[in-house]
Amino acid sequence: MSPRTPLSAASERTNSSAISALMQLALANPELISLAAGFVDQATLPIEATARAVAGLAANPSEGRRALQYGTTIGDRALRGRLLGLIEANEGVPEGSYANLLHRTVVTTGSQQLLSLVAEALIDPGDIVLVESPTYFVFLGVLESRGARVVGVETDDQGLKPEALDATLAALDADGHLARVKLIYTVSEHSNPSGISLAASRRATLVALARRWSTTQRIFVLEDSAYRGLTYDGTEPPSVWSHDPEGDTVILARTFSKTFSPGLKTGYAVLPDTLVEPVLRLKGNHDFGSSNFSQVLLDRLLADGGYQRQVSLLVATYRAKRDAMLDALDDHLGGIDGVHWTRPTGGLYVWLTLPEGLDAGLAGPFFQRCLTEGVLYVPGAYSFTEEPGPAPRNHARLCFGVPDQVDLVTGVRRLAKALVGCLDLVA
Ligand code: PMP
Repeated sequence: MSPRTPLSAASERTNSSAISALMQLALANPELISLAAGFVDQATLPIEATARAVAGLAANPSEGRRALQYGTTIGDRALRGRLLGLIEANEGVPEGSYANLLHRTVVTTGSQQLLSLVAEALIDPGDIVLVESPTYFVFLGVLESRGARVVGVETDDQGLKPEALDATLAALDADGHLARVKLIYTVSEHSNPSGISLAASRRATLVALARRWSTTQRIFVLEDSAYRGLTYDGTEPPSVWSHDPEGDTVILARTFSKTFSPGLKTGYAVLPDTLVEPVLRLKGNHDFGSSNFSQVLLDRLLADGGYQRQVSLLVATYRAKRDAMLDALDDHLGGIDGVHWTRPTGGLYVWLTLPEGLDAGLAGPFFQRCLTEGVLYVPGAYSFTEEPGPAPRNHARLCFGVPDQVDLVTGVRRLAKALVGCLDLVA
């Protein structure tokens, strides 16, 4: 018998991502319409703008060589300055308002790395993280690796409910566990998976609650605004982060993956002062700096307007896709008892609720019938924690990012056919 592989406890705790099975299914069955993968629209990926930026670098050998060299752990200084300008424009504050935050602005290898670094910097096994119910399931995987105790907090169509957050913190305090609470995680804009944004009126309250309950140690708020910029109706409210003028509570995480190209795998964050060094030390262990080439490229794209033009194109493209999906849902699933869905004002996801009692999990009847009909979705159960439990199983995350409008309509028609075939099971 060969000796066992002595994996670390963290490795033992780490399961393969819930959606890798779905990816396999999609790859093995190319005729399936996938409303599952959270990928971006393929046709609009910015080839020309990127080619122009690369040509610009090639025409300027010293800058080109700089881009091909290692950079710094915190990230390219010029880009970080420009990112603060982008945040200023986004928050509607005068240019230069955030110039003093350069040392707290960090570039990461996608926002996923930032989520992982923050968890690594703060969470020991048994520490408590509060998340929206439902939440971004990939972050749940990160927390599971850290051995965190993850507690879900109720949401409604306005996002995280402040009174539910307060009650959860009060209950943890009453049980003597408040000192283990380290983090509150919110996907503030057009959430993955629900499509819901945190209401403007709840944002200051969220920060105030985190501060109020930070009695023995700081409880941070991690604002993951991966979908900021992809807003199709109305305007975007000021971020949660903007309600933390002291800058000691909220971690703001953003990414270019959705608004430009996931292939450049570049994200960024503004961190509270006390987290900058811990996060950079850990990032030093991971990669001592994200792709310098991607950073220099993005700096050029922000400077020449290529980035902003791409965002406008994506907003128009995804708005039409979102409308196609919602219209198809109205046409094919409208009026079925117990079936409803969110109407996102941005992002890439619609959250579908099925009749209670219908299991939308991989082994359940709905998923199996969807496979037969030729359509994939992400089972909603992945987005819930065990606590306070039990996780509802009658939800599905539908992504309108990848399929074209024709396939979106066909995909929804297939979902409807599969659902009708299941309804007698819940009657
Ligand atoms: N946060 C959320 C809510 C996401 O949906 C994603 C991507 N699916 C990420 C973070 C990570 O994206 P990236 O690492 O490509 O920036």
